Amino acid sequence: MGRGELRELPRWAKRFVPWCVVMFLVLSAVVLGSLISASVVSVPLFLVGLGGWIAIARLLLPFKQAIPGRRKGTNPVFGWGTFAAIALTIWFLSQVSETLVPLAYGFVGFPVGLAISLTLELTWHSKLLYCEKCRTYKYFLRDGGMWFCSVCGGKSVERSRLVGKRENGGRNPW
Ligand SMILES: [Zn+2]
Repeated sequence: MGRGELRELPRWAKRFVPWCVVMFLVLSAVVLGSLISASVVSVPLFLVGLGGWIAIARLLLPFKQAIPGRRKGTNPVFGWGTFAAIALTIWFLSQVSETLVPLAYGFVGFPVGLAISLTLELTWHSKLLYCEKCRTYKYFLRDGGMWFCSVCGGKSVERSRLVGKRENGGRNPW
């Protein structure tokens, strides 16, 4: 085993850790949501804020991740600086005007938006597969109906999946 391989997370951890982040985001949303009174939730402006914060979360993340040697990643629409500016502006407005407070409470949509984006990324845009070049399990990204290693850019072939199964003794791929 090479020195580089020692730093690799085991396959179950590669699969498990991103879902922990999703769970953390969902829990954050539940905790934040529990702080909001029913009278705020019933205000239409709260729904506007909720939708707006979900959109902001999506725009903070890139729409496409880079595949080495194949495609460039896209930059997120917003940087964290813009995010901070929007958050401060909405907080300031809610301090000035009582009617704008529900807009600020819509912030609960932010962790929800991040969780949705990450879940889509994990279930639709990427897949944990065995990479022959990296000689371990890596996240592969979908491009043109095929899967490419996010680390080396190598294409996934049917055979690599069989190798993965054989290594696993034909058990559940988890
Ligand atoms: Zn690779």
